Formats: sequence, C-alpha cells, structure tokens
Amino acid sequence: MRSIIDNDLARQTYAGRLDADGQPLPQVITRFPPEPNGYLHIGHAKSICLNFGLARDFEGRAHLRFDDTNPTREEQEYVDTILDSVTWLGFNWTANGKEHLYYASDYFEQLYQMAEYLINAGHAYIDSQSAEDMASNRGNFNEPGKDSPFRTRAAAESLDLFRRMRAGEFVDGQHILRARIDMASSNMNLRDPALYRIRHAHHHRTGDAWCIYPMYDYTHPISDALENITHSICTLEFQDHRPFYDWVLARLAEGGFFTQPLPRQYEFARLNLTYVITSKRKLRQLVEDHIVDGWDDPRMPTIVGMRRRGFTPESLQLFCERTGVTKSDSWIDIGTLDGCLREDLDPTAPRATAVLRPLKLIIDNLSAGEVIACQAPVHPHFPERGNRSFPMSNALWIEQEDFMETPTKGYFRLFPGNKVRLRYGFVVECTSCDKDADGNVIAVHCTYFADSKSGTEGSANYKVKGNIHWVSAAHALQAEVRLYERLFTDPQPDAGGKDFMLALNPNAKEVVHAWVEPGLAVAQPDDKYQFERHGYFVADRIDSCAGNLVFNRITTLKDSWGK
Ligand code: ATP
Ligand code: MG
Ligand code: MG
Repeated sequence: MRSIIDNDLARQTYAGRLDADGQPLPQVITRFPPEPNGYLHIGHAKSICLNFGLARDFEGRAHLRFDDTNPTREEQEYVDTILDSVTWLGFNWTANGKEHLYYASDYFEQLYQMAEYLINAGHAYIDSQSAEDMASNRGNFNEPGKDSPFRTRAAAESLDLFRRMRAGEFVDGQHILRARIDMASSNMNLRDPALYRIRHAHHHRTGDAWCIYPMYDYTHPISDALENITHSICTLEFQDHRPFYDWVLARLAEGGFFTQPLPRQYEFARLNLTYVITSKRKLRQLVEDHIVDGWDDPRMPTIVGMRRRGFTPESLQLFCERTGVTKSDSWIDIGTLDGCLREDLDPTAPRATAVLRPLKLIIDNLSAGEVIACQAPVHPHFPERGNRSFPMSNALWIEQEDFMETPTKGYFRLFPGNKVRLRYGFVVECTSCDKDADGNVIAVHCTYFADSKSGTEGSANYKVKGNIHWVSAAHALQAEVRLYERLFTDPQPDAGGKDFMLALNPNAKEVVHAWVEPGLAVAQPDDKYQFERHGYFVADRIDSCAGNLVFNRITTLKDSWGK
C-alpha cells in the first residue's frame, strides 16, 4: 500500500486539489467505514491502524465514516462504541482542527439526486420483476443473465416510479432501481446491480424521512468521492465489486457531479487469526447464546473485550504493523499477538506477587507475630522505579504446585528434605506436611535460615535450584483472578464452513481465589502487572475496586512455568 501511495505522490495524482472552501486537500485521504451494526473486532483494528496509520505517515488525513444505509440492523449504541474504540486505539478523525466524522446517511439526498440523474441519462431503470424472477434471470457463473422485461422502460416512466417509491406509494420489494450495465457480463456484479430498494423501516438517524435506501455498492464510491478520498482500502472480497465502483464514479463524473482525479479502491486480505473468529454475526451468536458474558467479555476478540482483557492500544498497533498488509488470504498465528502484547507490557508492567492456588507454608522456627520486612524491585530492569516491600511471617501462602510430597525426577521445588529460596526472602528447608482425613496436603512445614536473606552477604552461601514465590498469610489480600484461555480448541474454528460452536473450549475461563501481595491494595481498574512466574494481569475495569480486587489474566509469560 505504501508503494502505491509513494507512486501516487511521485506522479502527483492527487496534487493541487481544493476543497469546497478553496482550501488545499491533502494528497492522501483514507477512510475507515464501519457499519454500525455490531462491535468492532481485531479485524477492524487492523483496518483502522492501516487507514489512520497511512494518513499519519503521509501527512494526510483519515475519515471515520459510518456506513449506515441498512436501517434495520443499525443502532446508536453501536455508533457510540465504535467512536470509543477508535479513540481508545489511539486515533482521531480531527485534522487541522476540523472533525472528519461522517455518516453515509447524511448523503441520502445527494445519493437520491444522483440516482435521478442516472435514470435520466439512461444508466438506470426501475425493475418491477418479482424477487424470484430477478434472481433466476440473473443467471450464474456459467450462464449469462436474461434482460428484465422492464429493462427497456422509458426514463420518464422510471423517474416517475422512482419518485413515487420515495413518496411511499409502494410496499417493500415492489420495485427496485437498477443500473443498466450488462446482463451478460462475466462479472455478476455488473449484471444490472441494484441501486435502491424500498424498505419501510425506521433509521437510527434519519428516522422515517426515507422509505427507500441506497445499496452499499452504490453508496460507497459516492461517499468516497464526496469526501475526496484518495485511497479507498477494503478487503479482498470486494475485488469483483471494483468495476462497479469505477462505473458509478465514471457515470457521475460524466454528469458533472465529480471531477478527476477520482478515488480508487484497493483490496487487501482480511486478517484471519488462529483460534479466533472475526465475523460480527458469529460473535453476536456467542453473546446471544450466553457462551460469553457480553460483547466485552475478556475472551472476545472485540476491541471492548480485548481492552477489558488488558490489551493495550500500543500492542494492537504493533501487531497490525508487524503483520503488514497482504494480497492473499492467510492465517496469522495468535502467538504473534501475544508476542506483541508481551513486548509492550514487559517494560511497563510493575511486578507483583500473587498466589493463585494457595497452600499454607508454616515456618516452624519463626514465632507467631514475628514479621520480617522484605523488598523486591518494582521492575528488575529499571532500578530507578524503586522497590516494593512486603512482610514475611511464620505462615505463608505458596502455590500448591510448588510442593510435592514425593518429588518426580527433575523437581527442584519443595519436598521433605529439600531446600528452596523464597523469592526476595530466605532459604527454607522443607521438613514435613500435614494432611486431612482424605490424605490431601493442607499445610507444609519448613525451617528458615536466618543468614540467607536475599541481598545479604550470607545468601551467597546457599545454592538452591528452586525459587518460589509466596505471600504472608496474615498480610496478603484476597483477590478474584479470572484465568482466560482461547475460546476455541480448533486453530481455524470457522474455516471452510465448519460449525465453530463445536470447537468451543469448555475451559476458556477459570475463576480462582488468590492471595496477592498487600501493595496491590492500590490497584486501580485497568492497572496492569506482571504477577511473577504467572504472566500479565489487569485489574478488571468493570468489577475491580478497592476491597474487592478482580484481576484478569491477559497472557501467560513466555517462559515456561515453574523453572
Ligand atoms: P463482518 O463481516 O464481521 O460484519 P464487516 O467487514 O462487514 O465485518 P464493516 O463494519 O463493514 O464490517 O467493516 C468496516 C471495515 O473493516 C471494512 O473496510 C472492512 O473491510 C474492514 N474489516 C472488517 N473485518 C476485517 C478483517 N478481518 N480484516 C481486515 N479488515 C476488516
Ligand atoms: Mg460490511
Ligand atoms: Mg461483512
């Protein structure tokens, strides 16, 4: 895409244009045109980063345009969340102090006038075939279509019908406005495509002003031209629509509505991510069937969901840049996204300790009530960020996985007779464990070595292989921690028409009651941490508050667990 733009700049394709107020127009104007019929997802993020990113890099501008020509599926709620998501991603539609936020519905009158022109110029006609006849006369890939008996209708008659369509004289489907192109074209999109249909429906912005609505393929090129778009970027499935895009603009340019240079459409592959679905319809099904807890469920690939999960705008921007734009469909490994996330969070996220599956560790040679202050860096690579401190006492919480009564080969953590280091604390030697009536381990006992404290000279005398994290039972805070996994078990859950509902991962969400270090009392919604040895976590932006901490696991650490 960049080389296409470089070329246009070199050839001055869009140089010297002026807007309606006589102001010079940038040579690169892109647009992101969502339909407000659902929440944006990672695929849209890709398109947003591409369009707004190009505008930024080429000193142009990007428009945010709502493609709201389908009244029955669109709602204000979706407009609001889309505005919010684009802003959160780090982009804005203001350039030189002017907002470039547009609605295709604002063009309804112009679109209508242009349609009247096309009728008068012989480029469009009112077809009154039944829907079935229209479909069967369209032909197929092997067979040319058949002309409608209404194709030869005089312009004056079509115009009269079109005006009466607008006036509401007909019911839905009774007539349709079609372009007069070529019913034998090998491109199905040129077999007299529909321009306008009757639809008695309330529109979320224009109310009941209209009962005819323009088709997407007609509206899109005109909206682009009205906004002086230069590079109109869309996904590959629109490649076959490009000839019609160009046809509409060429006819209207002949009619004096537009002047050269006209916008041009460019197609790129959709983003396909393994283990993820990016179809609004399918995502809606997950919400409506209560497979997830709403559009902003942290497992959803929606922007609101990813934001709640703890993704950052920077990580998504990095991901979109790194995966680039391609001309052929391919699947991007979800690991690439996690990698970008870790790259962004690793240097920024403060470290903290959380014990997710707690087991009591009792230090028998420390008396109850005795407290030793321990310190750890906020971030190991940035000493200037200072230290955090937390107390050690005779009763700690450790992870269940960090104790084995009978160790397996290569297990270096706690087992009777073995020594480990309590991270940022002391070396302890495991002595025994307590069990309940069923034989479950309920507590582990150890003794500590007073001269082994981390950071002191004596610590060097202790060589231990295990290094485990812990929190003081009397001081730790309780937190709900939501452990998220992929929503699907199949890397391509909906490829080739597969039923994605059969590939749902039943373990995509696990809730544990964890103990976290006391310093996390100050965690604000959206604050992100690395819980050492576990991964990256965020305080849930909806449910977490002082006194009721809730953390979401954003992603695990790259390093494997328990080393
Ligand atoms: P869906 O098919 O899920 O409903 P859509 O493409 O119809 O999505 P729109 O609101 O029309 O949704 O999309 C707005 C823009 O986002 C379009 O330009 C579209 O090409 C782009 N887009 C949507 N999904 C992807 C994707 N997976 N990868 C790249 N771009 C995408
Ligand atoms: Mg669409
Ligand atoms: Mg679509």
